[in-house]
Amino acid sequence: RCGFVAIVGRPNVGKSTLMNRILGQKISITSRRPQTTRHQVTGIKTEGEAQTIYVDTPGIHIQTRDRNKAINRFMNQAATQALRDVNAVVFLVDRTRWTEEDEVVLQRLEHVKAPVILAVNKVDRLQDKASLLPWLESIGARREFAAIVPISAKHGTNVTELEAEVARHL
Ligand code: GDP
Ligand code: MG
Repeated sequence: RCGFVAIVGRPNVGKSTLMNRILGQKISITSRRPQTTRHQVTGIKTEGEAQTIYVDTPGIHIQTRDRNKAINRFMNQAATQALRDVNAVVFLVDRTRWTEEDEVVLQRLEHVKAPVILAVNKVDRLQDKASLLPWLESIGARREFAAIVPISAKHGTNVTELEAEVARHL
């Protein structure tokens, strides 16, 4: 069993922290699969027979201020193409700070056919835990997610659960 998983999200949401948490010492970049030319391979996790290849899709968060519809359509198509062959997408967000760049990523994921798992990071910083639920409902209404998993990449909270959700799609 082998699968590609794209981790997408604007800068600073915790993508590198999550990768380090998932991969630990098991980082080995050896993939020569064609997908890797469109992505940056971040790491490979091997567990028994299963191999999960984590990739980063550079530029997915870059917003164009250009009102030109053709450019925007092109950017959307590029993102959709890049994510066409992955088995799953992890859309990483920071609950404590939602920005325009998050909106751009959410838009880029609109036509992506692969299952998208929403990982809500930095929940350790949430003062008001009860505020999480209505927020999750509002974002869940904007797109269909394969799963929604609140995590703390920094503390490792719920990261195993996130990996289990990913594994369902490999
Ligand atoms: P990236 O740009 O998406 O790769 O984000 P980084 O992994 O570099 O993280 C950006 C910042 O957020 C760093 O200062 C991390 O220590 C911090 N960070 C990442 N995950 C968490 C988390 O779960 N909780 C908290 N409190 N901080 C986090
Ligand atoms: Mg990073």
